[in-house]
Amino acid sequence: MTRPLEIPSRRRRVLVAGGAGFLGSHLCDHLVARGHEVVALDNFLTGSPANCAHLQGHPRFRLVRHDVCDPLPADLAADVVFNLACAASPPRYQADPVHTMMTSVLGTRHLLDLAARHDAVFVQASTSEVYGDPDQHPQREAYWGNVNPTGPRACYDEGKRAGETLCFDYLRLGLADVRVARIFNTYGPRMQPDDGRIVSNFVVQALTGRPLTVYGTGEQTRSFCYVSDLVAGLVALAALDRTPDGPVNLGNPGEFTVIELARMVLERTGAASGIAYRPLPEDDPRRRRPDIALARRLLGWTPRVLLAEGLGPTIDWFARTLETRPAAARRPRRPLESGASL
Ligand code: NAD
Ligand code: UDP
Repeated sequence: MTRPLEIPSRRRRVLVAGGAGFLGSHLCDHLVARGHEVVALDNFLTGSPANCAHLQGHPRFRLVRHDVCDPLPADLAADVVFNLACAASPPRYQADPVHTMMTSVLGTRHLLDLAARHDAVFVQASTSEVYGDPDQHPQREAYWGNVNPTGPRACYDEGKRAGETLCFDYLRLGLADVRVARIFNTYGPRMQPDDGRIVSNFVVQALTGRPLTVYGTGEQTRSFCYVSDLVAGLVALAALDRTPDGPVNLGNPGEFTVIELARMVLERTGAASGIAYRPLPEDDPRRRRPDIALARRLLGWTPRVLLAEGLGPTIDWFARTLETRPAAARRPRRPLESGASL
């Protein structure tokens, strides 16, 4: 059923684009621990070498600073390519929308070409944002989505959609063995404190005594997957011995309103800072919940960590990070709120 990716005796060369980011660094940990040779490629836009600091000096790990929009270093070779390069936080990807779009299109093309040259398995980190503001619920892979192609989120949503298009064209043309994961909101240790996404914002706000910024009424929903579950899903997708016909949703089907998450964070941190309502960002999707029947069937994958369980280690990690950061470095790293400039 699975390729040798999980067999430590058969070492594979794995390229992780976006490997210094939140998800990418956890994926690198997983792969190095299983005996693979890992090259992480990253331009450090939203990720940081600090996320991989514990791997630096490891004989099977290398971190290369590189923007995937530029032609890739000629000496790169891989048996498996994971493409996670792209800012994932709305304020971050909207800060340079043209670069975001180019990362998902040109960057994906460069990485697909590398996979094609080396006959490598290619795993694309796509997103639930391809469903836009969905009018089908929960979202199944067959749903084509409801995306505003000209709004402020389009650089990401349409970039990722175009990335998927490229992937399936390479697959149909027989150029590369491509697998596309549609990832739903994922959280955990190593999210950047000033990243601007909901979990990092709420936890950092609670830990620093600020009110939790709820956008709109807070009745919009998201489904939150813990990072270890997501990494397991990505690896299972890469290890599958048969190329799936289409994209595969990876996410935790537990669905929560933004207000529910705010209350959970306040309760678990013991913070008394309360909630501050802020305007809802343009085109903010109202509902999000993955249908993961395909991932269960194809990969035998199911998320194990409930939101109530994953919040604990996430809060602990942010608490340690905020404590160990020198006061001067702490100040500019406030959570990034809606409408704030970068
Ligand atoms: P992240 O911002 O922490 O990681 C992205 C990494 O890519 C960062 O290290 C960043 O510096 C790097 N990067 C960005 N543009 C680049 C470029 N042009 N060249 C090289 N490196 C570049 O975000 P994440 O949450 O770890 O997300 C990883 C991937 O998963 C992204 O592609 C994202 O779209 C996708 N995804 C994540 C989620 C989530 O909830 N975490 C949900 C859906 C999809
Ligand atoms: N959100 C919020 N307060 C914040 C950050 C986000 O209420 O401080 C909301 C946001 O409007 C959205 C949800 O939380 O409805 C998830 O936002 P995030 O940016 O994490 O991801 P995405 O919108 O891409 O799913």
